[in-house]
Amino acid sequence: MESLESAQARILRDVSPLPSERVALDQASDRFLATGARSIVDVPPFDNSAMDGYAVRAADVASASPTAPVELRRVDRIPAGEPPRARIEPGTCARIFTGSPLPPGADAVVMQEDTRVDSDGSDRVRVLDRVAPWDNIRFRGEDVKIGSEILGPGHRCSAERIAVLAACGIAEVDVGRRPRIALLATGNELREPGSPLPAGCIYESNRVGLAAAVRRLGGDATPLPIVPDDLNATRQAFLNARERCDVLMTTGGVSVGEMDLLKPAFESAGGVMEFWRVALKPGKPFVHGRLGAMLWFGLPGNPVSAFVTFLLLVRPVILRLQGAAQLSLPSVPGVLSEPIQNRGDRRHFMRVVRDEAGAVRSAGRQGSHALSSLAASNGFIDVPPDTSLPSGAPVAVLSLH
Ligand code: AMP
Ligand code: MG
Repeated sequence: MESLESAQARILRDVSPLPSERVALDQASDRFLATGARSIVDVPPFDNSAMDGYAVRAADVASASPTAPVELRRVDRIPAGEPPRARIEPGTCARIFTGSPLPPGADAVVMQEDTRVDSDGSDRVRVLDRVAPWDNIRFRGEDVKIGSEILGPGHRCSAERIAVLAACGIAEVDVGRRPRIALLATGNELREPGSPLPAGCIYESNRVGLAAAVRRLGGDATPLPIVPDDLNATRQAFLNARERCDVLMTTGGVSVGEMDLLKPAFESAGGVMEFWRVALKPGKPFVHGRLGAMLWFGLPGNPVSAFVTFLLLVRPVILRLQGAAQLSLPSVPGVLSEPIQNRGDRRHFMRVVRDEAGAVRSAGRQGSHALSSLAASNGFIDVPPDTSLPSGAPVAVLSLH
């Protein structure tokens, strides 16, 4: 049996990013940069005003106050998007707006609220307060310098990062290709939601749930038809999947019962097994192999076991295939608000709810079939074998959101 860490390392050892593709920036959302992106401009591209007001020479208004205003002559009006037409000489100013280019000669902007103009349209502006040199000015390149790397390879194009890439003049980025992930559920008892449920059968839930999890990570998920517990049908399903995907995830049929046909079917289809079983609860009967270029992950049938092994063992693969740099689940600190025990001999990834203040409690029943507590949870804690944790114990919560 593999330890979790050794299983993770063995799986990732042979996984490298898929070839990259060039996409328009608005198609890059949540994808991973294959090559770093550099700014093609200074941001902002020119010195400009941070305020609506008047561009001045600071020395001209050094003595200005409400009781002793300084009067300047307005020589220009500079709307955003237009170049200045006049130089600011001593005794003059220009009407200016937020984002308008600073005219030559000016070295500060007085905000509109500190000025008075007559309503008769005269070009006289009274300044009621002083400004220091360079007040209310945003300097060329102060946010991003031309040529500097904005985002390195392996970083995810979040909404905020897409905004900065756009500001830097970048219209297209190289991102890792989305992996094609096929999902296959095995079991005679499984029925599609929406169809009748004969005695002894259950509704199939793993494919649709895992497909959603795959898509959330950027994978291209394809659920395949349910496969009965039949060696030939299962072998055929492996051969069909081999043509269509980078990764095949199956659920069920990898335990030790006589209906657990996945491993023999995989080998008879020409697959090569890498390992079976990981010292983990829930999720021990996890299996990994390869069939040609396709990676196979055989997840346990129990829905919670399937999700836990997905998160710990398959999620990193989906990210690595896209070129992601960060592969592990984010971990946030918390404090137990109730005692928690693991009486078993395998580490137990327990479903928990962590509230906004960091208090952590069990999400409910921890059986590997109990989906409602999985749905209620927002993370897991990794509890070592034979361990009792008291209320108040600090814990690391592997965060799902
Ligand atoms: P197995 O690993 O095939 O022995 O399945 C273990 C348990 O998980 C059994 O109770 C199955 O009925 C259940 N199970 C297997 N596959 C699924 C699935 N796709 N959706 C929901 N439950 C499943
Ligand atoms: Mg089964």
